[in-house]
Amino acid sequence: MPNMKEIRTMAQQRGIRSTRMGKAELIRAIQRAEGNYDCYGTATEEECDQEECLWREDCFRESVAEEIR
Ligand code: SF4
Repeated sequence: MPNMKEIRTMAQQRGIRSTRMGKAELIRAIQRAEGNYDCYGTATEEECDQEECLWREDCFRESVAEEIR
């Protein structure tokens, strides 16, 4: 799982202006830039069939967090 610095670098490489964006927002912007669904943080109950997803681990954590909020 990429750390925050790596995520920012990934975003920059895809032409995303990453200033003032939070981690989840940034990851979704990267997903869109790659032509994917911006589904980060939506896998509630750890359900997602994208086994190879780079964000999987954090996505599950974030999804639970959003559910509680
Ligand atoms: S784990 Fe699934 S829902 Fe979460 S970002 Fe990856 S593909 Fe999207």
